[in-house]
Amino acid sequence: MYWSYIIVYIFWRSSDTGKDPGCLLRGVGSDMEMDIRMDMKKLGIPQNTIEVLQKYGFRFQKKYGQNFLIDTRVLERIIKAADITKEDCVLEIGPGIGTMTQYLAEAAGEVIAVEIDAALIPILEDTLSAYDNVTVIHGDILKVDVNDIVRDKNEGRPVKVVANLPYYITTPIIMGLFEKHVPLQSITVMVQKEVADRMQVGPGTKDYGALSLAVQYYARPEIVANVPPNCFIPRPNVGSAVIRLTRYPEPPVKTADEKKLFAVIRAAFNQRRKTLVNSLCNAADLKLDKEHVSGVLEQMGLPVTVRGEALTLEQFARLSDLL
Ligand code: SAM
Repeated sequence: MYWSYIIVYIFWRSSDTGKDPGCLLRGVGSDMEMDIRMDMKKLGIPQNTIEVLQKYGFRFQKKYGQNFLIDTRVLERIIKAADITKEDCVLEIGPGIGTMTQYLAEAAGEVIAVEIDAALIPILEDTLSAYDNVTVIHGDILKVDVNDIVRDKNEGRPVKVVANLPYYITTPIIMGLFEKHVPLQSITVMVQKEVADRMQVGPGTKDYGALSLAVQYYARPEIVANVPPNCFIPRPNVGSAVIRLTRYPEPPVKTADEKKLFAVIRAAFNQRRKTLVNSLCNAADLKLDKEHVSGVLEQMGLPVTVRGEALTLEQFARLSDLL
């Protein structure tokens, strides 16, 4: 066990050039130094993280998407991009050994952290012992009642979500927060780079799809930083990015039936290569016929051969209302 951490650490050091990872896209400054309490280990520094893992004989669980952050500059950038103040209550998903939680506890008024892995709970008790503004909940973020937690801990006022997400459930976590109408101001999260791109792009690009439209219905997306694999232990085999989703007070488009809009969007991208008419008519739940769909497209000034990837969110909302 001990040797496996030493090996991981040597491997990490040998690939670390000691320079800035050259990964941060723009704009959030790197000179903010978090003053983690003197009496405790500042995590995010690789030696300290490894010491904690070693002390508890922690074994990484692949099934939980465990890739812990070991780069203080990236951590500082996330906190700054999330724009955390002492007025804020932050919901952290998957605190791991508490690395980002320490930074959040320093910056925020209140932190609620939901962690699924029972083996991490005693570690969190240790690494967060100096903070009285952190509540750790042992649970599955997809199963706990987040609305209930926010009501209980923040009297239902909007929270800020900040996390280095487990990549295997990025989409259900983000869509779950939006669809359950959890009161929130923003979501600032580390995700797989490819998924961040899909959330941010507009029509006509290969990454544009149901996720882009769903996210952009609820929030304004902005990629804050690109983060390379050497900022994590163990290293993920994909690139990562930090994306901030700022919740709109009202969706940017109006629709008579939100559920139907999302059913239309899902159907449009289910069979990407087909025309929109065929994709929509093949979706059993929509019960549409070709003549009707073609007529609606004509009414909207769109060719009957158009594909879903060419339509904006506004056009989807109009289409859904007309169908
Ligand atoms: N925040 C830590 C960091 O940055 O070092 C750990 C991030 S790691 C990518 C993802 C974390 O989410 C792990 O601690 C993992 O155990 C936890 N996790 C995975 N699935 C979860 C779920 N369904 N509910 C809550 N936590 C989960």
